[in-house]
Amino acid sequence: MHIHGDWFRNADTQSVCSALTEAGYQALFVGGCVRNALLGTVVSDIDIATDATPETVTMLGENAGFKVIPTGIDHGTVTVVSGGIPHEITTFRRDVETDGRRAVIAYADNVTDDARRRDFTMNALYADPDGKIIDPLGGLADLEARRVRFIEDPVERIREDYLRVLRFFRFHAWYGDARAGIDPVGLAAVAENLDGLSALSRERVGAEMKKLLDAPDPAPSVAAMRATGVLSIILPGADDRTLAPLVHAEASLGIAPDPIRRLACLGGEDIADRLRLSRKEASHLASLQSASDLVKSPDVLAYRRSYAIAQDIILLNAALLGQNPNPDDLELAQMGAAARFPIRARDLMPEYQGPALGQRMKALEEAWIESGFQLSREALLALPDES
Ligand code: ATP
Ligand code: MG
Repeated sequence: MHIHGDWFRNADTQSVCSALTEAGYQALFVGGCVRNALLGTVVSDIDIATDATPETVTMLGENAGFKVIPTGIDHGTVTVVSGGIPHEITTFRRDVETDGRRAVIAYADNVTDDARRRDFTMNALYADPDGKIIDPLGGLADLEARRVRFIEDPVERIREDYLRVLRFFRFHAWYGDARAGIDPVGLAAVAENLDGLSALSRERVGAEMKKLLDAPDPAPSVAAMRATGVLSIILPGADDRTLAPLVHAEASLGIAPDPIRRLACLGGEDIADRLRLSRKEASHLASLQSASDLVKSPDVLAYRRSYAIAQDIILLNAALLGQNPNPDDLELAQMGAAARFPIRARDLMPEYQGPALGQRMKALEEAWIESGFQLSREALLALPDES
């Protein structure tokens, strides 16, 4: 069985593989690129596993004229850039011991050991440079059934790295069979091993949660997180009751998923801090949390904040009410976002100066907003000053 795709057939990627194979080493595509190629979805990054040490990969890569970056040299990863495409090349590894947050690793000489230190069977699929699949642990059958299953003993996998708990829910949301539901064995192991979650770094938790909430429908995964007790540890105070209605509302208008909108829907304490959101994400979230009282007039909301905020508030409010969002509200928001106040300060000068000028501008803008952005420049300038 073979994978197909331009992403690995191209000369740039093939020449990275050749640099390894012509020196007698293996070069195997692994992880998301193989999984997604088999599913027929987009391949965004290329991971390659090899039996060459990172030093050897660096030497071979540089000799072949590629830029080599020691991205994760302490866990065996270097990035080889060819034709502008980054290839993350990781030496075969096996887990030796663990502190529960990060597996301590040693290099391995064979692909089966390398497969056994990964998280889920569908993520332990390999392909050689010709695209021929290598499946050391039976991941292919699980992928075909869209079963997200921990490799071997779920409890051991979780205790080696608690981030895998969050990855379990994330991969189920993206690649699992929604009708079959989440693997019950994995779920039981999660529920019995919650202790290590609070020690995870906020950066890792935040990155995982955003990827989970970016899935087309994360609601079943988040419900399972709540039921197992994971949600209240990761996001104390979060409530997923309106998440499924939000996903439904988004779909009804054909609006793409957005992790921050979905976080606003879940709520909870100190979200931005707990998930180490960027400044921009935190400010969007704060706007959604503070703007809900303005929901009656999407045009005003869009004018004052932005179209994106107004759209998100419309969706969140529909979810809260359990109703379909009104497409007319989106149109109003578009109108509000495009509206431009027709008065400039110089139009009011020299009659108005200093603070009085600011006050007059503000009063006219209010009157203009009040009119549904309809009053013309002339009509506004003719308004009597009642202050
Ligand atoms: P995507 O890039 O689409 O999120 P991916 O499967 O490529 O999905 P990555 O986080 O890029 O996920 O990791 C690449 C591969 O490395 C995974 O497929 C998996 O085999 C392995 N891996 C990553 N993180 C872990 C982890 N915490 N525990 C075990 N294996 C992991
Ligand atoms: Mg990846």
